[in-house]
Amino acid sequence: MPAPTIASIDAIALRIPFDHWAPAPLFAGRPRTTLDTVLVRVVTDGGVVGWGEAYGSFWSAVVAAIDEWVAPLAVGRRVDDVDLPGQIERTLHNLGRAGATVHAISGLDIALWDLRGKLAGVPVSTLLGGRRRDRVEAYASLLQYNGDLAQIRRIVDRALGEGFSQIKLHERTAAAAAAARAAAGPDVPLMVDTNCAWLPAQAVEAVAAFGPSNLLWIEEPIWPPEDFCALATVRAATGIATAIGENAGNALDFAKMRAANCVDYVQPSAIKIGGLTPLWRICTEAEAAGTTCVPHSPFFGPGYLATIQVLAAKDRESALERFYCDLAYDPCGAFAPIECGYLQVPDRPGLGGDPDPDLFARFRV
Ligand SMILES: [Mg+2]
Repeated sequence: MPAPTIASIDAIALRIPFDHWAPAPLFAGRPRTTLDTVLVRVVTDGGVVGWGEAYGSFWSAVVAAIDEWVAPLAVGRRVDDVDLPGQIERTLHNLGRAGATVHAISGLDIALWDLRGKLAGVPVSTLLGGRRRDRVEAYASLLQYNGDLAQIRRIVDRALGEGFSQIKLHERTAAAAAAARAAAGPDVPLMVDTNCAWLPAQAVEAVAAFGPSNLLWIEEPIWPPEDFCALATVRAATGIATAIGENAGNALDFAKMRAANCVDYVQPSAIKIGGLTPLWRICTEAEAAGTTCVPHSPFFGPGYLATIQVLAAKDRESALERFYCDLAYDPCGAFAPIECGYLQVPDRPGLGGDPDPDLFARFRV
């Protein structure tokens, strides 16, 4: 029987309203009231449907990249060609080595993994060598509360009350971390994502101020994020573990991070770095070298499921990043719910579950 080939590729932008129980946080300079993503639907010549996800905060550019650049190079190619996304990345390299083009390829790559699992009748974790665990812990990744200590205490209490036992803030002050630590108690793992808060000259002093809060890690304290030497200086001077990787331009950046000795926790993003293929490679290389992979995953569709499959199969146990908010519609809530801070790894063939048509009816752009 001939190998299945790609018959069609569709990019579907979604904007799902969310509530984080406070005024809208800023994202890219604007108030953010929806979580935006691009789902990628790949259909084989035999009619099997696979789903991927591309980083969609700039959804119109990503949809154009899929429709105009990626899809014409992929249609007609074999689904089992694991080199295809990498070949497309090379063909499109002069459009930019990061950003919308690579985000678009990420969506294709994830959909191809979903298809390969479905065609083989196994979960993607089996294709990755087999799951090492049947459930993964999720950590509550709080959105921004802009240093509002009362809000931070309230939301930390709320997350702990729902059963989460690890907390991450998106804040930039030591006072915010101290408030969260006081609310959570001494034993709850606490992380702070500063979203590239400081220039190198300011960073050592700023990060050292977080010392009393006993963080599991501080995330992206340096602007620009690819200044790995500056991050190494912060790590050595403060003794606080670092996390970085969601803004990496491509997979090779992770080898450069290791060479710079700047990072304890690497954070490749399935929907930004080129898909599940580079995520898995980065993860296995990082963990073989002694760092822990804690993928970036504040998204909710097939990229989230791909991340769960990786967390189930990888060497080191680590928690899943779960954006802590109420979504108007949770795409995976029906088959991969979080209960008391944990979720069962979906074991259906492929990534573990398809988006419901209702999602598109209500939230398609
Ligand atoms: Mg982050």
